[in-house]
Amino acid sequence: MTLLAPENLPDFFKRRHGRAPQLFRAPGRVNLIGEHTDYNDGFVLPAALDLATYVAIAPREDRVIKVHSANLNADFVADLDAPQRAAGDWSDYVLGVALELEKSGHRLRGAEMIVMSVLPMGSGLSASAALEASVGYALLSVAGAPIDRLELAKICQRAENEFVGMRCGVMDQFISCHGVEGCALLLDCRSLEARPVPIDPKVRILVCNTMVRHQLAGSEYNLRRQDCEAAVALLSQTIEGVRALRDVSVAEIESHAALLPETILKRARHVVTENARVLQVVAALEADDFETAGELMNASHASLRDDYNVSCPELDLMVTLARAAPGVFGARMTGGGFGGCAVSLVEASEAERFAEIVGPSYEEKTGLKPMIFSCYPGPGAGPVVF
Ligand code: ADP
Ligand code: MG
Repeated sequence: MTLLAPENLPDFFKRRHGRAPQLFRAPGRVNLIGEHTDYNDGFVLPAALDLATYVAIAPREDRVIKVHSANLNADFVADLDAPQRAAGDWSDYVLGVALELEKSGHRLRGAEMIVMSVLPMGSGLSASAALEASVGYALLSVAGAPIDRLELAKICQRAENEFVGMRCGVMDQFISCHGVEGCALLLDCRSLEARPVPIDPKVRILVCNTMVRHQLAGSEYNLRRQDCEAAVALLSQTIEGVRALRDVSVAEIESHAALLPETILKRARHVVTENARVLQVVAALEADDFETAGELMNASHASLRDDYNVSCPELDLMVTLARAAPGVFGARMTGGGFGGCAVSLVEASEAERFAEIVGPSYEEKTGLKPMIFSCYPGPGAGPVVF
């Protein structure tokens, strides 16, 4: 199937529904560092991608939503006034957002929608949050409701937590709603305060999709969350004021190591050291010290592989190949793990050669053709005019 180009979406909609739509988009994201820290009230450093999910929408007079996914060539219909249950497929992301918007007091209108994404799905670039945020933005807009980006991000997260059943943190939805062109965002996942961190034109962010996703991804994610909760329950008995792993310092995790069973200690050590690395990477990027930023990304990968146990052979291979390419400061897995993408920080002058070097060696070793692209951080969710 040839993918519909975003600029052809209005015509496609007109042919299908006989009227012109309004258009909205919300981006996917790449996380530079701060993995599995968001649900521990910690720090993350994502950038919105210039790749997005697009929604063409026209309101209806009733309360029925009819949605077509151009990517899946699939449809679903739901009546907002009828009781709804999760179907266990892609429609849950869309309907979950509509239902959470209504629960928060927004009275929606029925609508015809076509969704189309240029993001690969299930690759750790957060096509799920892009779908949620683009649909949420579109539904609020045709209902004539004012849009509060923070409220929208929280509603999208609740939809994924409660209707889809994935206990994700708030990072993906936050960055999809709040992306800033040319910048990553340092987000404090407790206070939800964010600060743009400009990406210097001297460096590029290179994303490498391993093209694998192991089945473990969803189930192991929820298990890691339980391990973190177990660590908090034990540590809070002896360290005062520990509500989340965010409240534990690197020194404290070392001095209290004996309190924790081995696996729980490893999980907690990853989160605590990763939080510290995020702040160090921000300081390094702001000082144009890309070597230090790269070393911290490498350390993050090792911690995710050895302590958090969420890497896989394909991700380990991809970061090894990436680090061997010229001009690479550092590379790590990005996203939840067990497949998906790696992210590298690369000298701008070497960025074009990067794919030519890394791509063929990965393909030779795995038989898989990786998707490799340079990411220029783009803006958050909003209307589109072609
Ligand atoms: P990621 O967020 O890393 O891409 P997820 O598993 O969280 O991976 O989300 C991917 C899922 O989101 C897909 O399996 C599909 O159900 C849904 N999805 C995302 N984009 C679309 C789309 N354009 N059309 C239909 N479903 C989509
Ligand atoms: Mg997702």
